[in-house]
Formats: sequence, structure tokens, C-alpha cells
Amino acid sequence: PLWHLTAFVETLKVPDRYMFGPGPSNVPPRILEAGARPVIGHMHPEIFEIMSDIKSGIQYLFQTQNKMTFAVSGTGHSAMECAIFNTVEPGDSVLTAVNGIWGERAAEMAERIGGRVNAIVAPPGGIFTNEDIEKALSKHRPALFFLAHGESSTGVLHPLDGIGQLCHKYNCLFLVDSVASMGGSPLHMDQQEIDILYTGSQKVLNAPPGTAPISFSERACRKISSRKTKPLSFFLDFNWLTNYWGCDDKPTRVYHHTGPVTAFYSLRESLAVLCEEGLEASWERHRTVAEYFHAGLENIGLKLFVKDKQVRLPTVTTIIAPHGYDWKEITSYIMRTHNLEISGGLGPSAGLVRS
Ligand code: PMP
Repeated sequence: PLWHLTAFVETLKVPDRYMFGPGPSNVPPRILEAGARPVIGHMHPEIFEIMSDIKSGIQYLFQTQNKMTFAVSGTGHSAMECAIFNTVEPGDSVLTAVNGIWGERAAEMAERIGGRVNAIVAPPGGIFTNEDIEKALSKHRPALFFLAHGESSTGVLHPLDGIGQLCHKYNCLFLVDSVASMGGSPLHMDQQEIDILYTGSQKVLNAPPGTAPISFSERACRKISSRKTKPLSFFLDFNWLTNYWGCDDKPTRVYHHTGPVTAFYSLRESLAVLCEEGLEASWERHRTVAEYFHAGLENIGLKLFVKDKQVRLPTVTTIIAPHGYDWKEITSYIMRTHNLEISGGLGPSAGLVRS
């Protein structure tokens, strides 16, 4: 036989590690314990209560009144696809802001479902001005514009003010990826006129990976309800998901998929922790810790990839590997000697070190 079942005689071993990479982050005991509670049914009244708490927590976290607010059963990528698959129909024009890998991935997702995709491109570590964005909106007339608030592959925090208003001037939906930034940097979904916003559970929220909060504005809902074709994905279908999450005011909820109930417990608890601290306090804590950290790195002679302090992402710091050093040696040395995870760059920042 080819099976090596003797491995299971040993009990499961998992190291206790400092998770200082761009995610997942360490999960505090309170959130881990929440996820270890007994499994109940995904359609039981108690889980609907928990889901309702999650919805309220996400509305606060996102600073939105949107009814269509829930969590996708999957990681950040599933929310990204949920946003794009539901709002884009074959032939729709889509514009993505590419200043790292996330704009590239959004473009690929839209392309795969038949979108006509154009991109505005900034060098890695760079940002776009509102003028750059308006020019591209007026040229391509997209139905959807994608921007990463926290570009974790480069360590850039993109300003958001005024962009939603520009998108709406051109009858375009504004989609923002906040997987790396949500809770760590100010963002006001309604005030900033963001139409679709998503994040992940495993970053600032400090929950295990596997659930992805998402919210849709009324404008986004109108675009979805005027679709001529059904979204390509059944699993990520907006109408099914919003019914399962009780967002659509229908008297009954219909089974769509088996919600990951224990992941919902952890997500609920992580939102409770954040609500107890308060969003403003969390933003401020991330800002002061990041400034202290960045100054300390520069004091010991390291160079940060993002030169402009104003657009440094407080949650993910990108450090240029010192000349003559291989980033892989640095990250594996740190893991070996300090039991601490930091990671190498991705895409345009490959060759750099991220923490
Ligand atoms: N967007 C951004 C900005 C991210 O940092 C990540 C995770 N690194 C994702 C999307 C994708 O999330 P996940 O790995 O949870 O699918």
C-alpha cells in the first residue's frame, strides 16, 4: 500500500509562531476559542443570530448602512470574485488600477468572465492622482473601476477621497479591495461613495483565514438586478448569498451552501474585539506602531520601498533587501532563529522583503 497512515499515530503538531507577514496574522485565544465551540446547523436559528451580529459588525467596520452586507465563505479571493462576477456581464467595460498584483488579478478575473478590461498602470510603489483616474474613466467609460486601498504587494496605502464621486460622475461602480488595510487605516464606505467593498478575516481582524466580509451599495444592487445574464458562479451568486444571509427581507431563507459555522463564530468574535477597541482607536494604534516601526528600521540603516510616508500602508511594511543579501536567506534566517514569519515580495515587489 502507498498510504503512510503511521503518521497519524502522532498527535497533530503546529508551531506557535510570530506571524508578522502580510497575513494570516496571529489569532488571540479568545477568537481561537470561539472557533472551537460546538458545530450547529448552518440553517439553525442560533447561527442566523450569529450571522446577524456579523452583519452589524461589518457595517460598523466598513462604516456603511448597506443592507447587502455579509461574509463570503472563502478567503479574500472569493470576495474579489463575488464582487466582479456579480457586477460584470460579458462585454462590460472594466477599468483596473494596477500598481501591484491586486489590480492585475482583478483584471484577470474580469477578463475570464468576458469583460473588456483596460488598466491604468503606475510603477510599483506608486499611486494614481484623481486626474489620472478621471482621464481613464472618461476614455474607457467602464461599468466598474477596481482599486486596492492597501496594495499589500508593494506596501502602498492608496488615497480614496473623491474617487467614488468621480466614478459616479461617469456612471461607473467603485470597487475597493481592503483586504490588507481594513481596520488598520481610515475608510468610510458610504461617505467615500464606495459601491463594493471587501476584506478578509485573517489580517487586522485576527481571525483564521476563510471568511471574507463584503458589502454592496444600492447602486451596485441596481446594476446586479438589471443583469441580462446570470452570474457565471452559482456559489458566489449575489441573490443566493444575500438570501442566505437574510439581507433580502424574504420570509424564508433557502439552503444555498453549508456555511462554515465555526469560521462564523471566529469572525463574530474578531468583530466583537474590534468593536470593543473602537475603529478610531484601532486606526490610531496601527498608525503609531507603524511610524515607530518604520523609524526604527530606517535608524538601523534599512530602506523602505515606499518613499512617501503619506502613502505607506500601516499594516504591511515593505523593506528593500540590503544590497548583497538574498531575501530568501533573510526570511529563512529570521524564521529559524526567531520563529518569526516575514515574507518575500510578490509580483513587482519580488526580491523585496515584506513584513
Ligand atoms: N487583496 C489583498 C490586498 C491582499 O493582501 C490579499 C491577501 N494577501 C488578497 C486580496 C487575497 O486574499 P486571500 O489570500 O485571503 O484570498
